[in-house]
Amino acid sequence: MLSSNIWVRYRLLFALLICFVLLGDTTAVTPLSAQTNPTHSVAPGDTWTALAYRYQTSTAVLQTLNPHPNQQRQPTIGRTIRLPDEAVAVNGVLQRPFQGGLLQTAVSHNQSPWQLAVQHETGHPYRPLLYRPIFLPGGEQPPRELPLGVVALALSQVPALPGQALGVRVELADEGSLQGQLAGAGEMIWGENGRYQVGLIGTGAFFGPGEPSLLLQVEGQPAWDQPWRFVDDEWIFQQLTLTGAAAQIDQQSIAEERARLFELWSAVTPEPQWQAAFQLPIDSYLTISAPFGARRSYNGGPYRSYHEGVDFSAYGGTPVLAPAHGTVVLAEFLYVRGGAVILDHGLGIYSGYYHLSSVLAEVGQLVEPGQIIGEVGTTGLSTGNHLHWDLLVGGVWVDAAAWMEQDMACWILTGLQRPCN
Ligand SMILES: [Zn+2]
Repeated sequence: MLSSNIWVRYRLLFALLICFVLLGDTTAVTPLSAQTNPTHSVAPGDTWTALAYRYQTSTAVLQTLNPHPNQQRQPTIGRTIRLPDEAVAVNGVLQRPFQGGLLQTAVSHNQSPWQLAVQHETGHPYRPLLYRPIFLPGGEQPPRELPLGVVALALSQVPALPGQALGVRVELADEGSLQGQLAGAGEMIWGENGRYQVGLIGTGAFFGPGEPSLLLQVEGQPAWDQPWRFVDDEWIFQQLTLTGAAAQIDQQSIAEERARLFELWSAVTPEPQWQAAFQLPIDSYLTISAPFGARRSYNGGPYRSYHEGVDFSAYGGTPVLAPAHGTVVLAEFLYVRGGAVILDHGLGIYSGYYHLSSVLAEVGQLVEPGQIIGEVGTTGLSTGNHLHWDLLVGGVWVDAAAWMEQDMACWILTGLQRPCN
């Protein structure tokens, strides 16, 4: 360890010296933030290689400090990793070998090929660096290995919580199409505005903690992946006892209603309809009687299901309001959900309002934020006056309250370079 630390220092000094001697100019190697930083919070593109160049150490040193059984696995976004004591961060750019050899890279970036050769421990600039990226120090940004074709990448939550709407904001080098997946959660839905794109995905409340891979790929480029840390949320456990009519639930009708609604929820209209942060769908309510994700056991059975929305207990007849611009795609009385209105907000995002005593909307109607779409009731399978509000992203229920708290509506619009009022 000690000898390798000394070697790293020696190597840096040597590089600086050579640089000074050859060019009489040290601006190319710029140790920018000179603070000693024993830990690092992993962001997208912080691969072992990028971190080694950034902190002027080696991937072997970093992996020894942060052991993981799988050495091929990149650092997990949202984890904090340990750095060697002497780590000093430098900015720079990592260029892949096939984007040009060392000599070509040096010439095109107005740098000394000899200096780059020294930094990359190759004796001569004509000798190829097989499979290793070329590090060009300087600039405003730390070195990162983002998906090829991507200039900037940001995630909506780091670390992420299950049961929420999650997003990735991408700025592409050129216009193109993107694919994205979160392991265990499926394909992302993309909204686009030229080079600016936002990928959306919902994870269910049973998604759990872990480090699933986020996979991104610009069309025509190789795939990129990095694990993304998920921490568990604190869920409430509810034991419900069904008696009388509620105990005689017709399972087939429930399944049929669900299947019909999922068909509707899986359609994606490509443009976001909302123009501002979502509002609460009710002005006056008594309590939030059941939050999203509450684990539910019926008549002493296992906790096999969870609450798919947010319940507001309220007086019968209380107005129910559209939280944002949207198109009414369902407005009728259903067996389980009773008086129901479903709004399509675009980009695969739907919101639903159930157990209404009256439905005050029509299919095809465009609604505005604050517009009355129904009244609180206790229709369908319900034991008292309340509004059940749900929100889906790509056919997955997510926490509508968290959607508002994190201002996902504006996060998405801003990522698409659109105003959010
Ligand atoms: Zn409910």
